Amino acid sequence: MTSTQTGPSRIGQATIAEFAGGLRGTAVLPGDDDYDRERSIWNAAHDRRPAVIVRCAGVADVMRTVDFARSEGVPLAVRGGGHSIPGFSTVDDGIVLDLSLMKGIRVDPDTRRVTAEAGCLWKDLDAETQQFGLAVTGGLVSSTGIAGLTTGGGIGWLLRKYGLTCDNLVGADVVTAEGQFVHASAEENAELFWGLRGGGGNFGVVTSFEYQLHEVGPTVYCGLVFYPADQAEQVLRGYREASAQAPDELTTLFNMTTAPPVPFLPESAHGKPIIAVVGCWSGDADAGEAATAAFRSLGTVVADIFDARPYVAWQQVLDPLLPRGLHNYFRSAFLRTADDAALQSLLDSYARVPNALSELHLYRLGGAVSRVAADATAFAQRDQEYLVEVIARTPTAEGFGEVVQWARGVTSALGPDAAMYVNFTGDGDASNVVAAYPPDTYRRLVALKNEYDPTNLFRLNQNIPPAA
Ligand SMILES: Cc1cc2nc3c(=O)[nH]c(=O)nc-3n(C[C@H](O)[C@H](O)[C@H](O)COP(=O)(O)OP(=O)(O)OC[C@H]3O[C@@H](n4cnc5c(N)ncnc54)[C@H](O)[C@@H]3O)c2cc1C
Repeated sequence: MTSTQTGPSRIGQATIAEFAGGLRGTAVLPGDDDYDRERSIWNAAHDRRPAVIVRCAGVADVMRTVDFARSEGVPLAVRGGGHSIPGFSTVDDGIVLDLSLMKGIRVDPDTRRVTAEAGCLWKDLDAETQQFGLAVTGGLVSSTGIAGLTTGGGIGWLLRKYGLTCDNLVGADVVTAEGQFVHASAEENAELFWGLRGGGGNFGVVTSFEYQLHEVGPTVYCGLVFYPADQAEQVLRGYREASAQAPDELTTLFNMTTAPPVPFLPESAHGKPIIAVVGCWSGDADAGEAATAAFRSLGTVVADIFDARPYVAWQQVLDPLLPRGLHNYFRSAFLRTADDAALQSLLDSYARVPNALSELHLYRLGGAVSRVAADATAFAQRDQEYLVEVIARTPTAEGFGEVVQWARGVTSALGPDAAMYVNFTGDGDASNVVAAYPPDTYRRLVALKNEYDPTNLFRLNQNIPPAA
């Protein structure tokens, strides 16, 4: 558990009280009944004690909170859905700007666009958009916030057909470090709009997002197929071949994990290593069985639970497997191509997995993601065919260091040059961030940071420090 708790608060109580009195939302303070609930985030590895948690009710509260943090000179953590893996959305003795009360959503079925406030989770957005048979690429776990996921890129089940979440962003309202309210789109503040799509929370607090939607579902053909762990090499090679042929409507991932005690898996498999291939076909559901067949015959099938399901239900299927309250560390590496050496490295790494909670995912990218120009958004890793995600977890702090070391070893074994995905990392150090972006992209991000946040007020993020 990383807590850097300091002594008495550096903001005076009278100052906080005066500030809180002007809010439309609420300020939660140490000693309040809901303080422990409101200070906790998804990743229990980061247990911090903010001086104040500001539960903003609207843009005015956001502007006032940004001004307050700047004038008091205290650290500011911005929280959308609270799923930051390195714990950026909480802070010791600083201010948490919490957007979770801001959940307004408006779908315009004519333009097929949705405007959503920054406190929405994917389950909120999916529920509203699916009412109209529409969707935008969203996270694989429905309790994740739209804000952090979108500003970092956005991997989800529709990515090969409709691109990353950030590729579907058409506009955003932003409160800058100076407390100014601006709109960013292709027409207005276009460079800021570029940076918001992959540059994370470095440039301001987004108060609402506008996305382009697409016709999806309401039924999609999706599911998981399980294979024995001792067939991992055969299944992984087969997965590489099948995914190279897959149409854009099909997004998949390969998963080395431990079999959960679920009724559709034989009891003899529970608690033992197993391979899962997970996928979602977003085309006509009737064509899904044939479209996914190649992925469902890669070895001896232990269980096949592919089926036609409501898209909203599918978006929530993995939620129980990633509960809040554990100690988590993620690591990631893009792979331009998955050669035999890379596949072998992943197999060897998983053979050393230290516990049953830790696992390894290989996402097949491509499709619409690769058709966006590398300089069109700050997310510039467009020619990467795969993304490796390592999830390392323990129930408590005990043994956490060991799983972190394992996860680091998985990506370093893939070679020193592999870039990470900013949303899938448990680390928060600047050297990783530099390596996450191509050099030209990083230089452009620094120039944008110089313009919008020269004092680095927004530094609790995958930070792009302004040039000295
Ligand atoms: C269980 C789980 C599942 C995940 N699944 C996926 C997935 O399928 N696809 C994927 O791409 N990623 C996924 N992620 C990673 C996820 O995208 C990042 O952790 C993301 O930062 C979470 O966003 P949040 O709003 O919930 O987080 P928060 O902790 O609230 O915020 C994280 C950071 O985002 C920035 N931020 C938040 N709100 C704003 C705002 N309004 N304006 C500007 N910046 C802001 C800040 O820098 C903040 O520190 C997952 C993470 C978890 C824990």
